[in-house]
Formats: sequence, structure tokens, C-alpha cells
Amino acid sequence: MHQDLTYLDNASTSWPKAPTVGQAMLDAINAPVGNPGRGQHRISRHAGEATQCLRESVANLINAPSPDRICLSSGSTASLNMAILGLLWFDPQPEGKRPRVVTTVLEHNAVRRPLKHLERDGVCEIVEVGCSPDGFADPEEIIAAAADERCVAVAMTMCSNVIGTAQPIEAIGRGLRERAPHVLFITDGAQAMSALPIDVEAMGIDVLAFSGHKAMLGPGGTGGMYVSERAYSNIGGPCHWGPIRPTQYGGTGGTLAGSIEDFNPPHMPGVFEVGTCNAVGRAGLQAALCDPGVPSQPEALAHERRLIGMFIERFAGDARVTIYGPRQTDRRHGVVSFNIDSYSPQEVSAYLDTEWGIAIRAGLHCAPAAHRALGTLDTGGSVRASPGPFSKDEEMGTLIEAIEKLLES
Ligand code: PMP
Repeated sequence: MHQDLTYLDNASTSWPKAPTVGQAMLDAINAPVGNPGRGQHRISRHAGEATQCLRESVANLINAPSPDRICLSSGSTASLNMAILGLLWFDPQPEGKRPRVVTTVLEHNAVRRPLKHLERDGVCEIVEVGCSPDGFADPEEIIAAAADERCVAVAMTMCSNVIGTAQPIEAIGRGLRERAPHVLFITDGAQAMSALPIDVEAMGIDVLAFSGHKAMLGPGGTGGMYVSERAYSNIGGPCHWGPIRPTQYGGTGGTLAGSIEDFNPPHMPGVFEVGTCNAVGRAGLQAALCDPGVPSQPEALAHERRLIGMFIERFAGDARVTIYGPRQTDRRHGVVSFNIDSYSPQEVSAYLDTEWGIAIRAGLHCAPAAHRALGTLDTGGSVRASPGPFSKDEEMGTLIEAIEKLLES
């Protein structure tokens, strides 16, 4: 079926996956995959070792101080909910006493909705900062808002999934540590993980949520979060903000002494990981991270920027095409969002799919406030093309040709 497919929707989920992912998952499901921490036999022990290897791979990718700071989950949505709800808890406060969370208009619903629910229930106040016309949040504005003593967290995306802009995370994280050290920096790395260089220590990040199925080139339903020592420590005692508490309770396996307890184990990462994990998915993600057939992060980023650069170069001067975000590609990841005069994004998407076999995404991309900022909330959002590390020049060429033909028609 996919012979005729031009897949340019990697920001939704990447395809193709890393070459070894499929086989690794088949091997994992066909052998006894085991349940990590649930048994003394070799199969369970092996599953536990495999989990630890995956934590190590992730920790290396983001310069986390220890693999034990990586908690695995089903992806960014699960991780962001754990971090945001676990920090603020379901604890309504009288008006004037509610903790504040600074966030941006660029957020995906995975950040926006947990915050909105808590705001509606009287748990917190949201301070939403805007973005520049080309799609960047201003570090100064965020740090100044966070310096307020009622602020407990900044929660924001590392990369806009709508506009493709890589946010100034390092400037924000460093500024927060200096001028608002009481605030936790919670980042949504769904689009950034494996796509951009990330150093959680240098960037002052407390929580980094990630999905395995985007630029990490692994399967859906995998991911996790990095949690800094100050955001959760079972020895540190309560901090100004919390610390983050688990929002789910249940079996974590482990030792006899551990199982007898009435509460989750207090230590990372077990405190946030309950229930049987997606071991097959984890095998796929680990394969992706170790796959010699995957271009390095800088190579993939340069490649994807070059491909979206082809599109931007071709249409930036055409008044019938609106391209969002900066013209230069060096502050973007591999995403370009645009609209065509007199066609809705949905019409463009249907045309590309049915007449050209091109898969892109049209709509609001689960980030409504970003579209309000762009002025596209009431006009169907935007068309978003996102190449991956294995996308070919000809595929971007096909998209360009298809849009040219549409403009001629
Ligand atoms: N945040 C951003 C910026 C995203 O692009 C996405 C996925 N579209 C998510 C969060 C949610 O990721 P997942 O669906 O893997 O949980």
C-alpha cells in the first residue's frame, strides 16, 4: 500500500521507524518477554535488565545524571499529566491563594488541558504568555512571570508542534534557576526528544516529558519523563512546591519487603511506575535508540531543516501561500506549517492525499491557543508538513509540485 505514499507527517508519528524496531518487537513478543521486577526467574530478571538499558539510553541522550531519574510511561501525555497533577494535586485553594503556573500560548493540549482542568476546579491559576509573530516565547517574559512567589512551575513545550519553532529553553531554564529558583521547569519534549540537542542539567530542566514514537523512531505507547532530584526526592523532604507526588498507585513488583508496603515505593523511578509495562514497546524503543541505521541527531536535524527549507524557499515569496514561523530554518525543527489562499487546510489535505498520495496533517494540531495567536483558529488551522530522517528530497519535491499544481488550478 505504501509504495505510493509520500509520508510527511512525522510530527504526528514518525514513519518509517528505525530499521531494527519491527524485528526487536517481534522477537520480544515471540520469546517470553517477562515482567520486570515480577519474579526471581531469569525471564523476569532479563526484562528488568532490558528496562534498565532503556533508561540508560534515554539518560545518555539528555545528559541525565542517572538512569534512575528516567521514569517510563506510555508517552508525553501520560508524563505531563503525572508531573502537572502530581505537583498541584487535586487540592482546591481559596482565590488569592492558588499556586500559579506559567505557560505559553503554544502548548499542546497535553499541557494545556491538565492545567485548564485544575484551573477550573480552583486548584491553580494559569499565567499564559504569548509568542512573537514568528512563534517564539520570550524568555524574559516567562522568567519575570515566574519570579512571583506564588508561581510553582513553568510548563511549556520545547518545540511548537504547530509552527515548528524551537523555543529558547536553555535561556529560560538558566534564567529560572537564577531568578526564580523556587519554580519547577516542566518541559514538553514530545517534538524535541531526539530531534534537538537536550542537556537537562545545562538547561535547568526539572521534568522532561517525551514520546517514543516521534523523532525517537520507536513505537507508539512508549515514552516517559526525566525528573530532577529537586522535583522528586524521597530523602529531600518537602520543597516549596511539593514535591511531585504519584497520581497512580498499584503493583510495582520488587522485593518481598517492598510488596508488603501499603504505599508505592518512595524512590525514583518506581514511585511513578505502577502496573505491568509495555515491554514489547520498550524493546522497540531501545532498538531504535541503539540502531546503527539511524542518522545521528545533528545529521537528522540538518536533513529535515534542508527539506523544509526547500518548501519555504519555493513559496515564501508567493503571496498566495502563508508560511508560519521564521523563514530561516535554524530555529526550527523539521516542521513547516502553511495555508493556501482560498482553500481550507482540510481541502488541501484531502487533495494531497487523494490526488498525490501525500500524508500531511491539517487542522489545529491539538494546540488551539497557538492558532488563536496565528489568527487561524476560526479558519480550520493550518496544513503541516513534517519530514523525518528517512524522507527523500523527491518526496518534498512531490509536495512542492502538488502545491504548485493547486495554485495553478
Ligand atoms: N506535546 C506535543 C508538542 C505533541 O506534539 C504531542 C503529540 N502530538 C504531545 C505532546 C502528546 O504526545 P503523545 O500523544 O505521544 O502522548
